[in-house]
This record gives sequence, structure tokens and C-alpha cells, in this order.
Amino acid sequence: MGTKRALEQQLAVVAGFERPKASLEQYRTPPDLAAHLIHIADLQGDVEDRLVVDLGTGTGMLALAAALRGPTRVVGVDVDPKPLQTARENRRRVGTRTDIEWVNADATQLPLCPDEPTTVVMNPPFGAQDDNVHADRAFLETAAALADVSYSVHNAGSQQFIESFAEDHGGEVTHAFQAAFEVPKQFDFHTEASRTLDTEVFRIEW
Ligand code: SAH
Repeated sequence: MGTKRALEQQLAVVAGFERPKASLEQYRTPPDLAAHLIHIADLQGDVEDRLVVDLGTGTGMLALAAALRGPTRVVGVDVDPKPLQTARENRRRVGTRTDIEWVNADATQLPLCPDEPTTVVMNPPFGAQDDNVHADRAFLETAAALADVSYSVHNAGSQQFIESFAEDHGGEVTHAFQAAFEVPKQFDFHTEASRTLDTEVFRIEW
């Protein structure tokens, strides 16, 4: 297994959203956070020889990070076809031979029913925009249906919600860690050059 640092360096070439849409909360997962999440998943045995599904894959950051750690294959799902084009280009930049399928679909209504060991990774919309409240809940519902284990990035302060959601859906939070999430200024309503959000990552066994 490679180091976390090596993975982060491989992900440095992953380009961000060309024209990010605020309504879909399109923020690229920072490479250090993606490397951290996938490295931990790999250490737990949750990547190698498994199907990895990235819900709301956007630029493909998490899907590509997983692809570099020996899964059987990777599926990246996004409701917006535009970033999937960026994800394809990012795949060429990263240069992995892993089988990756980019699927243009709503992750909350996913016509997927894998019959193989499946790990979901995701950095879903946090529900910060008014028309998108509880977006992460619907993503978690898909994770519960698809995967036997998932890793997801949420707003700081989500732990109680995540733990009770998991419990209500036959799951259990086994690991939780905090992570800084650097957001560049990319929308008109952003007033600072960049901003660091406090986020939390949860591993859930379903
Ligand atoms: N890990 C991604 C994070 C992208 S941000 C990256 O690093 O690029 C959240 C993503 O979820 C966006 O790409 C957005 O288009 C997508 N999204 C929002 N609602 C969705 C839905 N209902 N189904 C699938 N994807 C969705």
C-alpha cells in the first residue's frame, strides 16, 4: 500500500469544476481530504477487491483516489453531466488503469443494485442552499441501500444526526474524524479569497 502523502500527490492533478453550480453545491473535495479518506478506507480493507461507488462524484476526486488503491472497479455518479466530462479528463491526468464507469444519474434515485462487496464514498451536498435541505440524508439512504460500508463527508456538528440516521437504518458509525475543507472563492456570494470549513467524516457499517 502506498502512503497517504503519495496518494495526495497523485491527486494534485485533478482539476476543479469548470463552471461550478451553487445550486448543486459543487465544491471539489480537497486532495488532502480525499487522500486521507481513501487511505483510511484502504487500511480498513474497504477498497481493495471491492466495488467502490462515489455518489456526487463531481470532478471524480474520490472515485480517482479509490481507483489508485486496487478496487475491482469504480462507479462515479453525478446528476450533472458537465463535471463528468471533467472527471473523464481527470482520469487521463491521474493515469489509472482501473475500470471506472461515469454514470449521469440522480444519486438519490439510483438504479443500481450491486451483488458484490460494495463501498460507498461521498462528499454529498451539505444542504446549505435553501432548495437542497437534507440533501445528505437522501444520499445516506442510497448508501444504506447499496453498500455494506460507506465513508461520507458532512458539515461539522452532524455526528448526532448521522448516528441516529445509521441506527434507524440498521447501520453503525464505527469511525469518525474531523477534517479541514478548504474552499476557494468560486461564487459571487463568497466574500473571502478562500475559506476553511470544518467537516466530519464518518465510516458507517450498514
Ligand atoms: N467529491 C466531489 C464533490 C462534489 S460536490 C468532487 O471532489 O468533485 C457535490 C456533487 O454532488 C456535485 O458534483 C453535484 O453535481 C452532485 N450532486 C448534487 N445533487 C446530486 C444528486 N441528486 N445526484 C447526484 N449528484 C448530485
